[in-house]
Amino acid sequence: MSKDHDGREGSHGAAMVEGDARSLGPAMLNGLRCRCPRCGQGKLFRRYLKVAARCENCGLDFSRHRADDLPAYVAITIVGHILVVGLMHFQGSGNDIAPAIYLAVLIPLAIIMPLAMLPSIKGGIVALQWSRRMYGF
Ligand SMILES: [Zn+2]
Repeated sequence: MSKDHDGREGSHGAAMVEGDARSLGPAMLNGLRCRCPRCGQGKLFRRYLKVAARCENCGLDFSRHRADDLPAYVAITIVGHILVVGLMHFQGSGNDIAPAIYLAVLIPLAIIMPLAMLPSIKGGIVALQWSRRMYGF
């Protein structure tokens, strides 16, 4: 029944006490929207990529997340695939595009796209960790 428990990691299965269902799909959708994975109302971030201490709506403690560098790896993988496929499409279609145009388009895209998708990816990863009860969630 308690909302919070201060059990240390590796303790005797305290996470199973809560009994609340943590469906992966809705939690991930809330996380991708940068919202609390449990209630979907409170904001997950207090700044750009800085996760809030807890949900302003339901009080869920966000401090247990361990997203670390995974959001950056996921963003780089997604953007890399998008840019490489786009590049191969232009090269393969017989277009004669100057290398300067490639640089003028691809370098800004390679910077802007990961920065734009990082909050959603990080929100999804925090939601995944909460949903799977990882790291003491
Ligand atoms: Zn919440």
